[in-house]
Amino acid sequence: MPTSAIPQIVPSRVCLSCEVCCRFPERESFLRPFFTKPEIGQAITGGVDSKFFSNAEGCQVDVVPNPSGEGYVCPAFDAETSHCRIYDVRPLDCQIYPFVLMWDQQHESVLLGWDSKCPFLWPSEGEYEPLQDVSSLPVLPTLPSEMMNAAYQLCAQLENGDLPLRIKAHPRLVTPFQPDVVVLQPLPQLTHALSDVD
Ligand code: SF4
Repeated sequence: MPTSAIPQIVPSRVCLSCEVCCRFPERESFLRPFFTKPEIGQAITGGVDSKFFSNAEGCQVDVVPNPSGEGYVCPAFDAETSHCRIYDVRPLDCQIYPFVLMWDQQHESVLLGWDSKCPFLWPSEGEYEPLQDVSSLPVLPTLPSEMMNAAYQLCAQLENGDLPLRIKAHPRLVTPFQPDVVVLQPLPQLTHALSDVD
């Protein structure tokens, strides 16, 4: 899917000053982005070494030690400038972030949610504190109307056209349930497409 099809939701100035995206606490973090086969090809053409992809048919990217801090970073991430070196061809997984595709706790429905680790989604910049489990909050945080509109537009894209079948070909694009992702909306077409996938 071309990058232009999914608009960037978080302003670049915010992304470039943030220290959450593209960085991972562990080498095997399940939050590492998933690349489909065509996305792997585009990433390699864009300069990412093929050695970072353990399965050419589609896989999560292998990460590298963070050259300027703790943990690990995506091999496409430039830690000096905080830029993605393959921004124009970054995978769908990265395009939709901070929205997230995940299964519900029962693994029955695919949901669209927003990741509470993204500080932009909190009411006041600078007041962000990482949450372990948003479901433990007395009142779930809500998104501003423009973000909700972006979410509904993304839902329509994910539920129509060939995207459900393309995601079915790579079911790992839908993550297991994550307690720090705030649920926005179920995706019945995508759930149906994935219903016969283990
Ligand atoms: S592909 Fe780009 S946007 Fe996605 S995690 Fe890697 S550096 Fe970040």
